[in-house]
Amino acid sequence: MNLFLLSLGCARNQVDSEIMLGRIKTAGWTIVEDPEEADTIVVNTCSFIEDAADESIEMILELAHYKQPGKCKRLVVAGCLPERYRDQIADQLPEVDAFIGTGAFDRIVEAVEGSTFSGGCLLPDPVTISPQEKDAPRALSASHMAYLKVAEGCSQHCTYCIIPKLRGKKRSRPPQEVIAEAHDLLAAGVKELILVAQDTTSYGKDLQPSASLSQLVESLARLPLQSLPSSGTAVNSTNIPGAWIRVLYGHPESIDEAFIKTVASYSNICSYFDIPIQHVSSAILKKMGRNYKRADLERLFDKIRREVPGASLRTTLIVGFPGESEQDFNALLSFVENTQFDHLGVFLYSDSEDLRSHRLPDHVPAEVAQERYDQLMSCQLDISARKYQQYIGQTLSVLVEEPVEKKLYAGRAPFQAPEVDGMTYIKFGPAQPDPAIGSFSQIKVSDAMEYDLIGDAI
Ligand code: SF4
Repeated sequence: MNLFLLSLGCARNQVDSEIMLGRIKTAGWTIVEDPEEADTIVVNTCSFIEDAADESIEMILELAHYKQPGKCKRLVVAGCLPERYRDQIADQLPEVDAFIGTGAFDRIVEAVEGSTFSGGCLLPDPVTISPQEKDAPRALSASHMAYLKVAEGCSQHCTYCIIPKLRGKKRSRPPQEVIAEAHDLLAAGVKELILVAQDTTSYGKDLQPSASLSQLVESLARLPLQSLPSSGTAVNSTNIPGAWIRVLYGHPESIDEAFIKTVASYSNICSYFDIPIQHVSSAILKKMGRNYKRADLERLFDKIRREVPGASLRTTLIVGFPGESEQDFNALLSFVENTQFDHLGVFLYSDSEDLRSHRLPDHVPAEVAQERYDQLMSCQLDISARKYQQYIGQTLSVLVEEPVEKKLYAGRAPFQAPEVDGMTYIKFGPAQPDPAIGSFSQIKVSDAMEYDLIGDAI
């Protein structure tokens, strides 16, 4: 029996999809890349914001077409969409044979093999499932990089965010389980381990005994040195590393000094800080349910840049949050101009009746929010272009990811995370051997665009 799975949404969803695929393969199914060849199709959905929910529905309807004249007999929808719209979903999408929520990923095999669930849905409380079952088989989407989920759920109370309702309160995985999985991934040839959670920097505080992200990352940073033949040193310099580690989705309230110092101390941890701040205006932050002020953020980013020379800073912002005045927006814009982030993502506020922020007064018209979005992105374009110019002439280690054309490959430097940041393009001379995908190349940067670099392999 053949199965096709489409994974939508974030990196954490991708881990869930890979684990579901691991279970399905273990049950004897063959995973296919073309939905036309599939007996069963699974869509692992996202519903974090309205656009994501719309995309999920669009993809479900598109894939449902394979059921009519085709081979496909069963369509299963998993994840955040059924979890969020649990009361209406089965009536709204009659094309779907089974829905399983975020608390039922461990029952995916039953769902694809034809079990019937009451009302077509299996939606247990998400907190009843462990963040990731120990030793769960996993079918990786790429052989050279893997996301490593360190916790599931979130115990923060941001008023614009549905995640705690969809994923439950934060549950960290025991450090020994994360380390064992990392070891297996490195032994299988993974060259970039990317730690993810909803609020990654608060990792471990819910465990008994409690653990910390800094201790965990330090243990992981020692792994490649023990388990891989290369030195694993100097991610940002000319030495080729064995593997590198990256941490995504930090939180300004939970990132601590020990973590910053650990990143500074280990050369195989990318000096990359992804800390979504969302806003800087005190009035807006308060309405968002975020307990910090602009001055705290200034201190935090100054500290990171002082303690980790060459640190790359990434953040995300929301514009058009209810009540955001011109003055609030100007404060945000000036913060972006002053901080000079290396990478910036901006989202338009996405409203929904099931969010606490929906009940706030003074919703911002869509065209005003769009204008603010454009202003921030144009400001960041100049910052990014200027920063990337400074790399010209420098030598960097780059993880090779895919061929683009003859003797041209796309990869990422340590300051470029997958999907969200730019790429580094590597040119190989006629006499140079082509690189293996997932190997590290040293390059000399020869040119820079706004969000991408180009260099020659050396
Ligand atoms: S910390 Fe992130 S995941 Fe948690 S509630 Fe806030 S925005 Fe949502």
